[in-house]
Amino acid sequence: MYDTFLLKYGEIGIKGNNRHLFEDALAKKVREALRRISGEFEVTKERGRVYVHCSGEWDEEETIDALQHVFGIVGICPVRVVSCESYETLRDGVLAYMKEEHSKKEETFKVKTRRANKQFPMTSMQIDAELGHDILEACPNLTVDVHRPDVLLDVEVRDEAYIYSRIIPGPGGMPVGTNGSAMLCLSGGIDSPVAGWMVAKRGVTIDATYFHAPPYTSERAKQKVVDLAKLVAKYSGPIRLHIVNFTDIQLYIYDQCPHEELTIIMRRYMMKIAEHFARERGDLGLVTGESIGQVSSQTMQSLLCTNAVCTLPVYRPLIGFDKNDIVEISKEIGTYETSILPYEDCCTIFVAKHPVTKPNLNMIERSETHLSEKIDDLLQTAIETTEVMTVTAD
Ligand code: ATP
Ligand code: MG
Repeated sequence: MYDTFLLKYGEIGIKGNNRHLFEDALAKKVREALRRISGEFEVTKERGRVYVHCSGEWDEEETIDALQHVFGIVGICPVRVVSCESYETLRDGVLAYMKEEHSKKEETFKVKTRRANKQFPMTSMQIDAELGHDILEACPNLTVDVHRPDVLLDVEVRDEAYIYSRIIPGPGGMPVGTNGSAMLCLSGGIDSPVAGWMVAKRGVTIDATYFHAPPYTSERAKQKVVDLAKLVAKYSGPIRLHIVNFTDIQLYIYDQCPHEELTIIMRRYMMKIAEHFARERGDLGLVTGESIGQVSSQTMQSLLCTNAVCTLPVYRPLIGFDKNDIVEISKEIGTYETSILPYEDCCTIFVAKHPVTKPNLNMIERSETHLSEKIDDLLQTAIETTEVMTVTAD
């Protein structure tokens, strides 16, 4: 039926000199995504468009699924290539296509021709008119609507004619790698994988840091986070994941500080360590799954206290989202089922019965002075013993 896809991408922010950079980045990401599936694929840039030519053992569903994970693609159009040696051969190809694709129901249509091959002896408008007329005659179920057609038939006349009418939605966004990199604080919850996905969608390469507390948290809890990273990596590409053993720091805070401030103080040390690795990696910011008011550690006062230790910008793409909306996205991107697996998290183990909801930064800093004896050594050890791995999609 077809063996070519035209990839549509958004036009915003890619005008002028940036356009070819954007297209190169997109083509590169498309090639990477298709390398993971069966079939042979040639990705080409032609006249400001990106095409995928498929051959070998390629599977339509698998190929479309792979393309739907490449940020920057707005639409995926299966293209039929037909001969356009003369108007008659073009017409025959177009009519065969329309009968196969659009003969089932009453619909309106419009033809839109672009003529890249100026040798072709008719203008675009003449081709539109002639094809429109011939389609009307051949397909009694179709009528013309030039303003809001159900079916927009695109005809691109080159050495051969490229015709398409179906647009499968892509994920949108920008190709990963076009907007620097950031360090995601990735827990096993619902929110942080979604936050990472959202930032990657804007073209940012993702690194990640996970804090665990063995033996209080299990190997399975850690594997769950690796699995979540894999799911995000299907969109973002490989993720460099840092797994920090946070146990001794947590126990020390538990011993030395008021229990109701535990979560906030812990979160501040997490951010410090994440920022250390972010700087090591050349990342331009931190990313968390925080949302105002979701839990006591995410009130405006708590966020102020956590934020105060960071020198890099902290991006919180979910800041104004309700939990329901976050859950919706996590289901859509395929992380939800893994996120709700019931393994313990280091934050929940040492959690106080009545955590402060309106912490005061001066008070928190005063409490942290009780940590001065050992905390630097503990931070150093946590950093030195961190396990680092590259997580790729399956
Ligand atoms: P999630 O947001 O992933 O569902 P959560 O809802 O339990 O986790 P918190 O525990 O308040 O939320 O954490 C808020 C944010 O802090 C998380 O979104 C994540 O970015 C970061 N974070 C929390 N725990 C960890 C952890 N163990 N390792 C790395 N980052 C963490
Ligand atoms: Mg959360």
